[in-house]
Amino acid sequence: MVDFDTDLFVVGGGSGGVRAARIAAGYGARVMLAEEYRLGGTCVIRGCVPKKLLVYASRFSHEFEEAAGFGWTVEGTSFDWSTLIANKDKEIARLEAAYTANLTRSNVTIFKSRAVLEDAHTVRLAADDRRIRAKHILIATGAWPGMGTGIAGIEHVISSNEAFHLTELPKRILIQGGGYIAVEFACIFAGLGSEVTLVYRGENILRGFDDDVRTHLRTEMERRGIKVICKRIVEEVEKVDHGLCVVLSDHEDIIVDKVMFATGRRPNIKGLGLDAAGVRVNDKGAIEVDRFSRTSVPHIYAVGDVTDRIALTPVAIREGHAFADTLFGNRPTTADHVNVPTAVFSEPEIGVIGLTEMQAREDFPKVDIYKTTFRTMKTAFLGGEARMLMKLIVDGASDRVLGCHIVGPDAGEMIQVLGIAIKMGATKADFDATMAVHPTLAEELVTMRTVTERHTRQAAE
Ligand SMILES: Cc1cc2nc3c(=O)[nH]c(=O)nc-3n(C[C@H](O)[C@H](O)[C@H](O)COP(=O)(O)OP(=O)(O)OC[C@H]3O[C@@H](n4cnc5c(N)ncnc54)[C@H](O)[C@@H]3O)c2cc1C
Repeated sequence: MVDFDTDLFVVGGGSGGVRAARIAAGYGARVMLAEEYRLGGTCVIRGCVPKKLLVYASRFSHEFEEAAGFGWTVEGTSFDWSTLIANKDKEIARLEAAYTANLTRSNVTIFKSRAVLEDAHTVRLAADDRRIRAKHILIATGAWPGMGTGIAGIEHVISSNEAFHLTELPKRILIQGGGYIAVEFACIFAGLGSEVTLVYRGENILRGFDDDVRTHLRTEMERRGIKVICKRIVEEVEKVDHGLCVVLSDHEDIIVDKVMFATGRRPNIKGLGLDAAGVRVNDKGAIEVDRFSRTSVPHIYAVGDVTDRIALTPVAIREGHAFADTLFGNRPTTADHVNVPTAVFSEPEIGVIGLTEMQAREDFPKVDIYKTTFRTMKTAFLGGEARMLMKLIVDGASDRVLGCHIVGPDAGEMIQVLGIAIKMGATKADFDATMAVHPTLAEELVTMRTVTERHTRQAAE
């Protein structure tokens, strides 16, 4: 019989790896985990958590303005970037310690080291060149910012990783990218007082989101002073006396203090030894897995961003949990990737679940759209122009709600709760039968009575 040092070796101590390790250990497996940077992974150390703290900070400027309309005198406000970053770092250190304590309590052996696969059962720890023979291996190494193909001056460009550690708030920043991370950072910096330019090569920001959401958010971001430039790319960044000179593809020059790229994230597989272990990757460099997260090598599994299914923390956690239930809990479980609610913490916020209008119209012959845009009670009271968007996509045949898209305050909170109803297969009639909570923003979701658009397609002959 082959003697292994451990039942499970987890490579990567982020959302997916930590959950899998704890659950597997809870089932009695001997578990080891290696983390090369800091426990907690992207989400805790340089993703969701620090970002949300910066989002909170950035929203005060607008709230101070609003407060005046409600009779408050708000004078002498000022913002100190170093205080925010120091407090954020303190909170991240607290969370990292909690992750370490939880793993230790669960009897998971932690190695603070890079781990590399030497063959299908051997993991080498770079810190002390030690080799560990593992019966099963879980790869949960996440993703890494892609910085493009290397334009001139790329060494002056930061990614979201560095944005969390800037020594000072840039007065002027140019962000390239149109995904949610680019959009969120644009709103964070704008809220904190930076002059922000967002450059994106496509037609409009937030590709993959519903078109109304994309247009609505762009309008609202521009209303708040963010300059959005589409169908252009950054071609060169040059250091000049008073900052960085960014040359765009139409030869326009923009002078800024910082340039950040948020142009997508790539599966983190570089130098991991996947070839040596025989683990197959797809043409995007993501590890190929089946619905049980099993790779091309039967005793090696992969979860989270490295598999490029849906790159979100709750998805990585669910995949890690399902893996441990399946392999060590004797309970075959798959993570369900359908109808995953998600938020973009832009200003205003976005919350979405299910199909976009275009997806629904491709998949369903009869689609009803219920849509409203309105000024919130607070905005109307203050005489502001900002509008909120709510949109329901309904299957005209079954009346099932196929998608819901919200742009406005607390959209993320709303979509989490609404996600339960949509996941359960709620119909528009169920929405209509639900009493409104008044006065709230969310009540609009159950009071949209009139179809805004009806799209009918003849069945193919
Ligand atoms: C700026 C930003 C904001 C985000 N905001 C959100 C959000 O609001 N909501 C949301 O749901 N998701 C958000 N995400 C995405 C989320 O962070 C990821 O989907 C999630 O962290 C994926 O978890 P994971 O376990 O796959 O990988 P990760 O959390 O990235 O963990 C992988 C870990 O593996 C380690 N590692 C890599 N290679 C090795 C090796 N060879 N040896 C040892 N250790 C290794 C890494 O250091 C890392 O700690 C955000 C991401 C970013 C970058």
